[in-house]
Amino acid sequence: MDKKEILNEFSSDPDRYYKVKLFEEQGFVRKSCLKCKRYFWTLDSQRGLCPDDADDTYSFIGDPPTKKRFDYTQAWKEVESFFVKNNHTSVSRYPVVCRWRDDLYFTIASIVDFQRIMGSKVVFEFPANPLVVPQTCLRFKDLENVGVTGRHFSSFCMIGQHSIPNAQGYWKDECVDLDFRLLTEQFGIKKEEVVFVEDVWAGGGSFGSSLEYFVRGLELGNAVFTEFQGELGKHTILDQKIIDMGAGLERFAWITKGTPTAYDCCFGPITNHLFEKIGIDSDSEMLRKYFTAIAKNLEIHDDLIEVRRNAVKTTGLTQDQVNRIITPLEGMYLIADHLRTLIFAITDGALPSNVGGGYNLRMMLRRINGTIDRMNLKLDIDELVDMHIDYLRDTYPELDEKRQDVKTILKLESERYVESKVRMGKMAERLKGKGRAPTVDELITLYESDGITPEYLREIDVISEIPSSFYAKLSDLHQSDKKKDIEQLPLDDLPETDMLFYKDDPMEFDAKILKVFDKSVVLDRTSFYARGGGQEPDYGTIADSKVVDVNKHGGVIVHEIDGVIPKQGEVVKCKIDSLRRSNITKNHTSTHILNSSARGVLGSWIWQHSAFKEADHARLDITHHSSLTDKQVQDIENAANNIVAKDMVVTIQNYDRGTAEQKYGFKIYQGGVVPVKSVRIVSIEDFDVEACGGTHVKKTKEVELIKITKTKRIQDGVVRLEFVSGPTAKEYVKQQEIENAKRIQEEKQKEIKNKQREEEKQKAKEKIPVLLEQVAAQSSSGIIDEIEINVNKIKSCFTNSKQYDEFFHMNFGKKLVKDNPNSVYVGIFESGPTIRVIAYSGDEASKSKNAGNIAKSVAEILGGAGGGDAKFAQGGGKDTSKINDAIAKAKSMILG
Ligand SMILES: [Zn+2]
Ligand SMILES: [Zn+2]
Repeated sequence: MDKKEILNEFSSDPDRYYKVKLFEEQGFVRKSCLKCKRYFWTLDSQRGLCPDDADDTYSFIGDPPTKKRFDYTQAWKEVESFFVKNNHTSVSRYPVVCRWRDDLYFTIASIVDFQRIMGSKVVFEFPANPLVVPQTCLRFKDLENVGVTGRHFSSFCMIGQHSIPNAQGYWKDECVDLDFRLLTEQFGIKKEEVVFVEDVWAGGGSFGSSLEYFVRGLELGNAVFTEFQGELGKHTILDQKIIDMGAGLERFAWITKGTPTAYDCCFGPITNHLFEKIGIDSDSEMLRKYFTAIAKNLEIHDDLIEVRRNAVKTTGLTQDQVNRIITPLEGMYLIADHLRTLIFAITDGALPSNVGGGYNLRMMLRRINGTIDRMNLKLDIDELVDMHIDYLRDTYPELDEKRQDVKTILKLESERYVESKVRMGKMAERLKGKGRAPTVDELITLYESDGITPEYLREIDVISEIPSSFYAKLSDLHQSDKKKDIEQLPLDDLPETDMLFYKDDPMEFDAKILKVFDKSVVLDRTSFYARGGGQEPDYGTIADSKVVDVNKHGGVIVHEIDGVIPKQGEVVKCKIDSLRRSNITKNHTSTHILNSSARGVLGSWIWQHSAFKEADHARLDITHHSSLTDKQVQDIENAANNIVAKDMVVTIQNYDRGTAEQKYGFKIYQGGVVPVKSVRIVSIEDFDVEACGGTHVKKTKEVELIKITKTKRIQDGVVRLEFVSGPTAKEYVKQQEIENAKRIQEEKQKEIKNKQREEEKQKAKEKIPVLLEQVAAQSSSGIIDEIEINVNKIKSCFTNSKQYDEFFHMNFGKKLVKDNPNSVYVGIFESGPTIRVIAYSGDEASKSKNAGNIAKSVAEILGGAGGGDAKFAQGGGKDTSKINDAIAKAKSMILG
């Protein structure tokens, strides 16, 4: 939808769309900006320009329009007390990890808290009406602005003021009246300073008018009146109109403080702590001038590099001042901002990684580390985390509970950064050699596949500036990847299937065939569990034909048949494979048990990433930063079996979605988003509570036993647990015991064999003197104790008997040729994985029978090498399949 078109339409009828009671009562006048023509409402009849174009823009820096000064947390207390006083419920913030929407990783606005997806429609569910919420929102699009512009944050607190116009709630008149009084009465801003600008909002198929409110050029909030749906001209009024007023808490603090930047009044004691580290006084006239110039330039130029350059010029800063003051300052603000965002995200269960929303978190920590490196700072991240949390815990007590977990994750990630730097250095050298700067797309590839940040490349002079579009592009890539195609089946005319597995769950039942197509059958009622939530479908029979697959399409369950397809209209007998179902069920309850057990053992960041439940095996993928140690696996398994042994009661209850969320929190969404109004809550006493559509045992002891068979880190930030439960687990243990027994038996056998061999070798050793005498006495060819002798001009001896080892060959051969210089000796034997050959040739014999040549030739056959001289040589090779060839060769060389 074209926003301009809607604005033209609405502004052409201001009485209908923009004129509220307040404007009339107070005598606001409507004006069109002399410069940009936009319409605005003001009490100052002299004002000719809209807030963006007026001269007073950002004049609050150094000269705030209020008598009272409120920092970030105080500003929220003021806002909250005002709205509560005016009949609003103050609701705690929702998690920044948006687990209730599958098209968003992070919560980007306060209204998102109350949006739920039903099919392709967005519906609103408010826990109270009207309400106000301090919603932390994460946005990564303007990352390169953070620290530089004085007003961009990677996370900020959106004051959400929301109302549905009905018996409790209100519409435009009261909304604008409240916002005006918040500014003038609660914050003490002069009425003439407040300017309302006409605008519109459109998104998700609906739209409405909006009034943005400004004080001295700073947009403090935007009251959106979502009223219509459809295309402009053909639009209709929504059944449920909604007030969506979002305001930036950071800006409320800033306008009362008048500090050079919004950062100076929003990070509590951190800012001063950081300033002391680099020795800067943030409250100087020069900084006020500089950041005012930045703000004004941001209205004119899109390119940040340009904005900065112009501000430096206007303020008259030298390059030295920029390097000494501005650049370090930007680094400090970046560190404080990014760290605050990471604290919220990790507290809410997100992990830095290379995938999905985890990218943004890893990138931010790398930017922090890169800045610390570049500025050569000695910063204790733990200390900064403590300062942030101590400052924020009054408003957000949940941060305090996860303090240690946040530190653990940040420490681990920082260590990984240090490790990766070496690799990055090598990569960067290669890039420098290319002779041209990488493109934005190349920078993204470098970041994604090698983890090389553009900050790092700038630091080592591969690039001179970070392209303004880099972070926006990267963030776009990781917005959300989850959108499924719905298969088109001929099911339109069918009623929803009566799902017996959610009722009395009979294993045998009668049902009527409503539709038949291809090999598929739709019944009026079924107890066959359809594939869903990682649980595999039931098998069994329909009218004696095999059921091989069951899937759910909307509310209709489709059975795939292998065999005779029954006819439409028939009433058929159906039977579930109850053993299969029972095993799958045990595995499903085990998944829940393992998930919570893993969280208990490893940390609060453990969430189910995905799960799969078959009859004879199952797996649970959890969000965790490292591979698991054997001890961790054992601890998780023990904790899980402890829950099994306690025989806890598993209860299943349906709740209204909003009630379930309020009662149990968003931890219930382990298996992902629930797209229905009523959620099925499966709880294992107070140990584990999840929204789940699967089948479960009634008490945990029915699971019998859980065995983790294998664990593996399958991707960055995700670890897979493969496991079995019930009879499969018992069978697994039995098999393990059998295998163990077999292994012990084999080891014993091996030991006995080794011992025998040792004994034989010992015997052979003892035999040497006697054998030497016997061989010396031998005057014709023959065999003595497996040594083949050939008496000719030379006495040649060869053996490959297993009873002789290296020690024997070395000693026997050496003595033999010493006693008789006209003799030669060759022994072939196994030694570990190789076959070896040892050859001796006496002083005389060596003239015709060269020991070196013999060893070399034999070794070559064995695929190895040999060496030595004419009198003594050895060698060997690993190709045991050639042993017979080797023996034949050796024999022919000396006996023949
Ligand atoms: Zn204007
Ligand atoms: Zn489940």
